[in-house]
Amino acid sequence: MIDGVAILGSTGSVGTSALRVLARHRDRFRVVALTAFDAEELVTQQARTVGAASCATVRTGGPTCLIDAATRPDVSVVVNAIVGAAGLAATVAALRAGKRVALANKESLVMAGDLVLRAATEGGGEVVPIDSEHSAVLQCITGHPESLSRLILTASGGPFRDWPPERLGRATVDQALQHPTWRMGRKITVDSATLANKALEVIEAHFLFGLPYEAIEVVVHPQSIVHGLVEFVDGSILAQVGYPSMELPILYALTHPERIPDEGVRRFDPVAAGSLTFEPVRREAFPTFDLGVQAGRTGGTAPAVFNAANEVAVQAFLAGRIAFGRIPLLIASTLESLDTGPADELEAVIEADRRARSCTEEAC
Ligand code: MG
Repeated sequence: MIDGVAILGSTGSVGTSALRVLARHRDRFRVVALTAFDAEELVTQQARTVGAASCATVRTGGPTCLIDAATRPDVSVVVNAIVGAAGLAATVAALRAGKRVALANKESLVMAGDLVLRAATEGGGEVVPIDSEHSAVLQCITGHPESLSRLILTASGGPFRDWPPERLGRATVDQALQHPTWRMGRKITVDSATLANKALEVIEAHFLFGLPYEAIEVVVHPQSIVHGLVEFVDGSILAQVGYPSMELPILYALTHPERIPDEGVRRFDPVAAGSLTFEPVRREAFPTFDLGVQAGRTGGTAPAVFNAANEVAVQAFLAGRIAFGRIPLLIASTLESLDTGPADELEAVIEADRRARSCTEEAC
């Protein structure tokens, strides 16, 4: 059987990787719909190359074009590779329509984890993570999910892993965009430099795998070879290992729980990979990490507030409007000034997101 695929955010880093993976598996998947934010020319060209029936941009078609693509009857898998809060509504709509969502947009789960899981249960859809750490965990637990007792997510530590705190505050945009191991979009690369990304991933893991926050740990692993470790009730640990590339997690999200042959993934050589090292997160140097995890523990709309404040602060940093060191300060002040409530309706989450954005924007 050939499955129809929609890619939301097809011109970004994950979107273009997904197209490369899908081009190797035309016997299993057919790309039928593509969306981009504003890269009209590129998305049209991509659609022509793969023979997609539809392509749209949010700039011209508005946000409903995402939902239209995600709920098409000829689509069974939606690759959600949108950056940020803008991806949430499409995730929910796709799950309600019974689709598999191959999720790179971790913000969907961070902002509204309970809602997203409820949409999947009610609509018959399923969420399969593309995020490499969560793909690692899923690959390790597939077959015995009920025996899971603890997760250890790895973090590369980003470009500032060993910088002294006083130097960190003045880090430039160029320095923040020099990720040591992963090539990714600008927003997530800055999130890796502040460790906001890892906090978002802890929240994502909490919802995906149903574990309490106490059972989700993070270690810094600068080589980015071990993507995640899983501990089972008997104390045994499994890890998933490989070179840093999104293509394997993308392929696995498409085929889970099956595996299919793929010649495009670089084969691993443990000798060439050399030493693998692990160290603790320097929480005092990267306060954004604890702010995010604490928002996760608070629950309700707090993670949506954290996410929105972070998105605004990162945009301001990328635009040269604020210093790197102000990112956590802005997030902390937004979290402090806004009340949080239950996140049981999409409207409540969107309202919390909107208020957090304007609060952070004002403080910038
Ligand atoms: Mg990740």
